[in-house]
Amino acid sequence: MSDTVIYWFRHDLRLSDLPGLQAASLTGNVIPVFIHDEKLGDDWAIGGASRWWLHHSLASLAGTIEAMGGKLILRRGDTSSELNKLLTETGASHVFASRQYQPWSDELERNVHDMASEHGAQFKRYPGTLLFEPGSVATGAGTPFKVFTPFWRACLRSPQPEAPKPIPTISFPEVWPLSDALDTWNLLPTSPNWAESWASLWRPGEAHAKNVLTEFLDDKVQNYGDGRDIPSKPFTSKLSPYLKFGEISPRQIWWAAQRCKDQEPGRASAVDKFLSEIGWREFCNHLVVQFPAMPDKAFNAKFDHFPWRGANPSLSAWQRGNTGYPIVDAGMRELWQTGFMHNRVRMVVASFLTKHLLIDWRLGERWFWDTLLDADLASNACSWQWVAGSGADASPYFRIFNPVAQGEKFDKSGIYTRRWVPELKDIPDKFLHKPWEAPPLTLETAGIKLGHTYPSPIVDHKEAREAALSAYATLKALSSEPGVGQ
Ligand SMILES: Cc1cc2nc3c(=O)[nH]c(=O)nc-3n(C[C@H](O)[C@H](O)[C@H](O)COP(=O)(O)OP(=O)(O)OC[C@H]3O[C@@H](n4cnc5c(N)ncnc54)[C@H](O)[C@@H]3O)c2cc1C
Repeated sequence: MSDTVIYWFRHDLRLSDLPGLQAASLTGNVIPVFIHDEKLGDDWAIGGASRWWLHHSLASLAGTIEAMGGKLILRRGDTSSELNKLLTETGASHVFASRQYQPWSDELERNVHDMASEHGAQFKRYPGTLLFEPGSVATGAGTPFKVFTPFWRACLRSPQPEAPKPIPTISFPEVWPLSDALDTWNLLPTSPNWAESWASLWRPGEAHAKNVLTEFLDDKVQNYGDGRDIPSKPFTSKLSPYLKFGEISPRQIWWAAQRCKDQEPGRASAVDKFLSEIGWREFCNHLVVQFPAMPDKAFNAKFDHFPWRGANPSLSAWQRGNTGYPIVDAGMRELWQTGFMHNRVRMVVASFLTKHLLIDWRLGERWFWDTLLDADLASNACSWQWVAGSGADASPYFRIFNPVAQGEKFDKSGIYTRRWVPELKDIPDKFLHKPWEAPPLTLETAGIKLGHTYPSPIVDHKEAREAALSAYATLKALSSEPGVGQ
């Protein structure tokens, strides 16, 4: 038996603070492997925008490994079969990996364990994706938390996450198994290349993740408390795609944040607010481990009876940013053009879809899955259910964002909206978020012809609000029937 370890990279595309890689480097020669399993997750296989990030993330990881004298072996196909072939080809004695928490991960890891055993090899999984392992944070009664605040308080009372580890010294084998060429995976879009401008907006990879974190904690975090709700301001970290692909670990963020508080005590409350958002990521992941149906099924079973509408022309107007509500359209166009949307605007567009259009939250969740660079099964499902009212610790259904008021409050000067909806750039601030109220001469001067150069609203806010509330009333009536709700 050789002392060769396959390190199976998953959503942990980094070299530092990776317990499994650390262990591998102490065990033997390491063969780093990534398997592109296009069928993994079935309906939740990787979305279009994420494929773009994955390509660049793998290129970056491969470059770093090569600079250390190794190789990143790329294989495409069924995960267990590819690992099986690699064990045969290399005679490796171990397969190490970070544990993942998608609904299908446990079964996959069991299969890999059994398959490795047949080779006489050992499969070991390590933490690496979360601050606290699911199951380790529980209520006094030992049950999972369903409400965020007590969950996060319990996390903060738990022993601190271990301090992050630097990149280990890794020894590599002399002989390598064959690898695919990354370009043959066609992860990048072509004809049309809708991601053409993304390389100027995003820099995937571990080194960049660290720079983004440092810059955020050095220059931006002090504005996070108040500024995080203003979409035109660069006051959030934009770490979500790096976290999604594991290019940075939450432990690295946690410890960097603690250092920032020690060095600049005046920033402590803003840093704590930022950490509590990392806490939401944690909460969502812990919930999905407990309730694996979360991406597809309402957490609150009452909502199984909600009269959601399916796909209709309003859905495509929403997807394309043509609803006639400027803040909604700005958000949806930001998403389409950059693979990202500011959190405040995500809440506004999700509320608009589920409440103004009464369209099933799952259709919005799917669209985000395909278009977000940070598309994360747990955070996406929990956030959509939070807005729709069906989730754990959800926003009450009757809280219906008024898209005009949201625009006026969070994008008062219109910088964000005008950037993404340039056809409204010359309208006075007063009418920016409700162009249909502008006098004809104002519209004409601004070069706007409603219904032609910019859509008229696809629904009337007041009528939509009433329709949403009466749909919700049917749910309330149902909730008293036995067997409905939880
Ligand atoms: C409808 C909807 C869908 C969403 N889908 C996703 C998704 O697929 N992937 C995703 O990472 N986030 C999702 N979010 C949460 C949030 O919008 C993004 O995490 C955030 O906008 C990322 O920007 P940032 O990195 O600048 O965040 P920051 O404000 O800097 O927060 C730091 C980190 O905390 C985490 N975080 C922040 N807010 C949340 C939250 N509400 N829930 C869970 N984690 C959070 C993210 O990892 C984020 O990078 C969704 C929110 C909504 C309302």
